[in-house]
Order: sequence, then C-alpha cells, then structure tokens
Amino acid sequence: MDFAPSPQHEEIRRTVRDFAERRIAPVADELERQGSFPTEIIREAAALGLLGVPYPEEVGGTGLDALAYAITIEELARVSGSVAIIVSAHTSLGCNPIYLAGTDAQKERYLRPLASGQKLGAYGLTEPGAGSDSRGTRTTAKRDGDCWILNGSKRFITNAGVAGIYIVTAVTEKSAAQGKISAFIVEADTPGFSIGRMEEKMGLHASNTGELLFNDCRIPVENLLGEEGEGDKLFLKTLDGGRIGIGAMALGLAQAAYEAAVRYSREREQFGRPIGSFQGVAFMVADMATEIDAARLLVYRAAWRKDRGLAYSTEAAMAKLFASEVSQRATNNAVQIHGGYGYITEYQVERYLRDAKLTEIGEGTSQIQRMVIARNLLGLRSF
Ligand SMILES: Cc1cc2nc3c(=O)[nH]c(=O)nc-3n(C[C@H](O)[C@H](O)[C@H](O)COP(=O)(O)OP(=O)(O)OC[C@H]3O[C@@H](n4cnc5c(N)ncnc54)[C@H](O)[C@@H]3O)c2cc1C
Repeated sequence: MDFAPSPQHEEIRRTVRDFAERRIAPVADELERQGSFPTEIIREAAALGLLGVPYPEEVGGTGLDALAYAITIEELARVSGSVAIIVSAHTSLGCNPIYLAGTDAQKERYLRPLASGQKLGAYGLTEPGAGSDSRGTRTTAKRDGDCWILNGSKRFITNAGVAGIYIVTAVTEKSAAQGKISAFIVEADTPGFSIGRMEEKMGLHASNTGELLFNDCRIPVENLLGEEGEGDKLFLKTLDGGRIGIGAMALGLAQAAYEAAVRYSREREQFGRPIGSFQGVAFMVADMATEIDAARLLVYRAAWRKDRGLAYSTEAAMAKLFASEVSQRATNNAVQIHGGYGYITEYQVERYLRDAKLTEIGEGTSQIQRMVIARNLLGLRSF
C-alpha cells in the first residue's frame, strides 16, 4: 500500500493550486457578492485542461485519471465552492454520460467540445416532483419521425444558461411501460428549449442553478443517449462518479476552513493567550484535521478504485457521505473558532459553511447515500 501521491498527481495539485490562488482567490468574494458567473476564470481553467481532466486525449480530454480529477476539484473548492461545482457538474454530469454511453459520432460531436473546454455541460435529472426519486420524472420524449419531441421541465440544474450542451432525462413511451427513463442530448440553441427561473441560493452564488424548460423541443433522433429506457442505469453510473467530485468539493471546503481556523487560533488572543492554547479550541482543530484526513482517504480510495476498474459505487457513496458531513462540521467549527468575526463576511469561513451545505444535498442527499451503501451491503431493497 502506497499513500504517497505520484509525481503526476503532485503536479496537478501544484498547477490547480497556483491557478486557484493566483486567479480565483483575489476575486472569489466579489464574484459571490455579485452572484456573477466567472466566465473568464472558466475560460482560463479550460485553457489549462481543467474541464476534461479524467477523459482521454482521443476524445478531447486531458488524459489524466479520476484521482487527478478529485485533486482538481478539491483544490478549486479550497478557494471557491462556486468554481468547483461549475467544473464538477460539467465534468462528472455533463461529460460523463456521453463518455459512458455515447456513440462514436456523439463523442465526436458533443464530448470533444465539452472535454476540451470549448463548451460547458450540464445535467438535468431533477424535476419539481422528482428529486431523490427519479420515478417522479414527468418530462416526456415522444418519437415523431426522425425527431424526439421533449416537453416538461427540470429544476435546480447547475450551469443552466451557461452550458452549451445539456444531458436530460425523460420518459418515452417504451420506457414508461417499463417504469424507466431515457437520456437525451440537447443543444442550448434548440428551438423549444429555454431557461426558466434562476434560483437565489444560500451559497455558491457565482454558480448558476436554474430551470430547463422544454416546449415541443425537437431534437434529432440520434440524440438519444444510450438505449431507450436505459437512462436509469446511465444516471446511476453517472452519479457514482459524480459523488467522487462532490466528495472532493466537500474536502476542499473543509480544508479551507481548517486552514483559516489554524491561522486564527494562533493569531487571536483572549485572556492574554492565543485562543488555540485553550483546549476547547485546540480540540476542535485536532478533530477537524483528523476528520479531513479520513475524508481525504475515502475520496482518494473511491477515485483509486475507479481508476483501476474496480467496483466503487459503495466507496463513492461512503466518500461523499462522510466528506460532506465532515465539511459541514469543519466549516461550522471554523465559524465558531472565529467567534463574531466568523459570522461576518470579511472572513471567508461563513462562505465555506454556506457552500459546504450543498455537498450534503446535491447528487443524492446524505440519506440517499446511506440507502445506497446499505442496499449494496445488505443486498436488500431500501427504496
Ligand atoms: C445548488 C444545487 C445544484 C444542483 N444541481 C443539480 C444538477 O446539476 N442536476 C440535477 O439533476 N439536480 C441538481 N440539483 C438537485 C439535487 O440533486 C436535489 O435537490 C437532490 O437530489 C434532492 O432532491 P430534492 O431537493 O427534490 O429533495 P427530496 O428528494 O424531496 O428530499 C427531501 C428530504 O427527504 C429526504 N428523503 C427523500 N427520500 C427519502 C427516503 N427514501 N428515505 C429517507 N429520506 C428521504 C431527503 O434526504 C431530504 O432530506 C441541485 C440542487 C442544488 C440545491
């Protein structure tokens, strides 16, 4: 067993950290305050190859692996949760379904511009009545000659309005009969497709979260992704990989909170001593460091298994579950250690706390992760 990262993984960490600290950190607070999408930063991230990290160069990607991808998201989240979720939704959810199920022609036409960073991707599964349970999907796709006609809506979609390519799920006649759904590729400029309301959120203000609307939206028949009625299998596989990304995002936010807490515990004096010399504070720091280390091992292990072609569904759910809950505790304790200064926006820790909350919700809530883990362990249906 070797816990040392390879030189290649050290290199990607150095590259992303340098980019994040140099280009994102100076503007991160302002972007959040304005709620503006970081267009220029995403363009630069694309130029560095950060929008296609785990995909082979043959399909336009950077040719690295899932571990390099986890490190990328971790380092982006350490500076900006918004940039991390934009890149994570694009890579895990926008690109991966095409990589997993696309035909050669779909990969050439849609995955290449995504993985090379020319376009952003998004993934629409969630609907008003279909959150944890995709069986509530009401968006329909009806075959009409050489087209599919989509009608319905999607809610809470990351990169809505800025993505060029959307992967969406819909019920087809055949899949409805089987109680299943199908997946489709929709280009942003397709007539009948539009963006609805954009959400005002608790955190991650520089990332877009919005509604997708389909009103007799006609897409070519060849934009069915995978087999008709096989969309469920595809999104389960997609979410397995996505959970490594969200786990890594949780990790980066926790790391940022920990670093801020350490700095402040050393600097801030009360009762004539640095507050870090009080056991009540020191033990919080010790717990943060220990839990973050454990979360990192879980996230990297899930990525490591994925890279070796081993089963990783349980491990990815464990990593996402644990890292997101660690992130919540670590960011909350970082606010506590900062006292009143933690509650004001001058110190970034309140931002980390707000951003970390999403990691317990997106790509399957903590309750759903526990159900996935338990079902895999027990072999019993839990939902
Ligand atoms: C910022 C943001 C970005 C997002 N990005 C995307 C995206 O890009 N694409 C996309 O498709 N979706 C996206 N989502 C949606 C997200 O994946 C869903 O919000 C999430 O899956 C939960 O669904 P829901 O909100 O409908 O909650 P519900 O499913 O209604 O859950 C409500 C509560 O009930 C619990 N619950 C539900 N079922 C069970 C059960 N069987 N047992 C125990 N507890 C249960 C849940 O854990 C939760 O606590 C995003 C959401 C947010 C907030």
